[in-house]
Amino acid sequence: MKNLVILGSSGSIGKSALWVAERYPEELKIFGLSVHRNTEALSAQIEKHHPRIVCIADSAAAGKFMPTARKMGVELLAGDEGLEQLASHSDSDIILNSVVGFVGLRSTLAAARAGKRIALANKESMVAGGELVDRTLRQNKGEIIPVDSEHSAIFQCLKSGRFEDIRRLILTSSGGPFRNTSHSDFPSITVEQALNHPTWNMGRKITIDSATLMNKGLEIIEAAYLFGLPHEKIKVAIHPQSIVHSMVEYRDGSIIAQMSRPDMRLPILYAFFYPERREMEIADLSFEAPLTLDFAEPDTLKFPSLNLARMALDYGRSAPAVFNAANEAAVEAFLARRIKFVDIFGIVEYALGKAHLVDTANIESIISADKEGRELAGEYLRNRSV
Ligand code: MG
Repeated sequence: MKNLVILGSSGSIGKSALWVAERYPEELKIFGLSVHRNTEALSAQIEKHHPRIVCIADSAAAGKFMPTARKMGVELLAGDEGLEQLASHSDSDIILNSVVGFVGLRSTLAAARAGKRIALANKESMVAGGELVDRTLRQNKGEIIPVDSEHSAIFQCLKSGRFEDIRRLILTSSGGPFRNTSHSDFPSITVEQALNHPTWNMGRKITIDSATLMNKGLEIIEAAYLFGLPHEKIKVAIHPQSIVHSMVEYRDGSIIAQMSRPDMRLPILYAFFYPERREMEIADLSFEAPLTLDFAEPDTLKFPSLNLARMALDYGRSAPAVFNAANEAAVEAFLARRIKFVDIFGIVEYALGKAHLVDTANIESIISADKEGRELAGEYLRNRSV
């Protein structure tokens, strides 16, 4: 029996993880759950899954929830420290980190220090703190099994060959809702249009990131750190059907792909049970009906995100953390209707150009790089409005 902790249990990945865990009651016990502040969802999950510990990241919401937690007989933790405590608890075995954004880094690091298996859905952890996370994992014998569908695919494809025989990784991208939108229409893209993703049903932050392809930029950086490869060896291919989740090409020209109907329960299940595989019914790919797989080159003029991510990796040091922070701030501003869709690119580019890059050997320097990225995003907004 493995004790499972789900950080971000009220989100889309968290709910899918609970669905998966429910099907294996003999093997997975829900040990801990955390939410940002959605205590209503948390109550329902406590009633159904009986975790031993829950954490509410928003301290005010946690305070209000105290009497309910007592009544329900569950231990309650609060704030960032609570998340770290839960992520590194001595009785937990697997930590699914599906927290949204940079705040997920502390939990990833705490779990890594405790030598846990981390089922990682929080890509921002690897983007902002890739080197530190990697070093912490190695020192403490922790492991990351990626839950990001592309990285799960690559992780699986890497079972087919040796690291030194990799020619390149090919990250697939649906292309988002604006794949066929003409560049001249980009300035008038609305929040509603951007929130309408063609193939994946996800949270708001990642849906906007998918529309700007910033998500793919983040994933290039995530892949570079997870798999230890330069970005020159990481190609992006637009694949609107989202059936091929990513590929690895080896030096002999052989390309290994991982395919399925898009369903996040699959990478979650894989991360929980790796190296074993478990039964799961997902929509079939029967090969009886016609199946078309299209691939195309991304339009980097419409979507500067990919090259900005490559630039962040070339700059190195704290540049990826700045890239991530500026993007988070930009997405927030876009969702609040304070900026246009295309301003997101401008903000990230501005922040990368202006940031004072530092080494990211410790959490403090990563936090200050994150802060700088957000401040530079704010600066861009102020300069623009005068
Ligand atoms: Mg992904």
